[in-house]
Amino acid sequence: MRAVVYSGYGILPELTQVADPACPEDGVVIAVGASGVCRSDWHAWKGHDPVVLPHIGGHELAGVVAQAGPEVTGWRAGDRVTVPFVCGCGRCEYCLAGDAQVCPRQTQPGFTGPGSFAELVAVHAADTNLVSLPDAVDFAAAACLGCRFATAFRAVTAHGRIRAGDWLAVHGCGGVGLSAVMIGAALGARVVGVDVSSSALSRAQELGASFTVPAGAADPALAILEITGGGAHVSVDALGSPATAACSVRCLRRRGRHVQVGLLLDGPTPIPMDLVVARELEIYGSHGMAARDYPPMMTMVADGTLRPGLLVGNVIGLEDAGRALAAMDGPAEEAGMTVIRLRPSMRL
Ligand SMILES: [Zn+2]
Ligand SMILES: [Zn+2]
Repeated sequence: MRAVVYSGYGILPELTQVADPACPEDGVVIAVGASGVCRSDWHAWKGHDPVVLPHIGGHELAGVVAQAGPEVTGWRAGDRVTVPFVCGCGRCEYCLAGDAQVCPRQTQPGFTGPGSFAELVAVHAADTNLVSLPDAVDFAAAACLGCRFATAFRAVTAHGRIRAGDWLAVHGCGGVGLSAVMIGAALGARVVGVDVSSSALSRAQELGASFTVPAGAADPALAILEITGGGAHVSVDALGSPATAACSVRCLRRRGRHVQVGLLLDGPTPIPMDLVVARELEIYGSHGMAARDYPPMMTMVADGTLRPGLLVGNVIGLEDAGRALAAMDGPAEEAGMTVIRLRPSMRL
């Protein structure tokens, strides 16, 4: 098969021929229809998140089952599918409880093994991890779902428990943040977007934010307390820095809920626990979304309530994947998400 491979950290990935992946006994090989290019792929390529070299990146994928292993009962060749970026083992207590997103033996195509910047990718424990893709959802839009969009959906709905009329604050309007803005607005929340970039804030407005607050100037938490008349019901830190995490907690209404999605790679994060006590705040971490929890989101995508396709900026070919990854050395992807399209058709 053709795949985009890098032999060392920071060395430009090249499109080359490699052996097809073997099909796991309990898994499938997916013919990739489209694959998102995410900042996590860039972190792996730069060596921030070590992988086994040479490596094929790519973890946001949609496609068609090309082959199913003998232990797989629910899927067969020809099924249109997508997968979460965290794939559970399917056997541990967390997977059996439906929480594959925190499986201690999780696999992640593109990190723990070869990913989807390739014509074929193997996925383990298919009966736990595959998600059926309705015909109404094309591969490019579905490629946005597995990582940033599903993570935002779970943050806003499962942890945030957002209701129509609630105030939702979103700190950081990149891929995850803009997804949270769109999801919150679609569910009837009044959304306040916060970012340092004015173009990110105008994208947030186009996608449903009622108010925007520049992160650079005065204290964004105070601005949100004022706009919302006492604080947000739910606040999401989609960026992941000690400053945005603390700001997200401080902008909450009494009994509000903070959801941490941004990865906080900068180390210890001082959360104002005095406010957590005095205002009875709830603090959650959110790490992707298990395949089991996809159906309500997929229904809203298929009927057009949620439109992840609007988050796609550039659609490129596999031959341009290496350059797209290298381009992330620059500032954040203001043009929207980049998606590699490998198959124009809906089916094999
Ligand atoms: Zn990702
Ligand atoms: Zn497990």
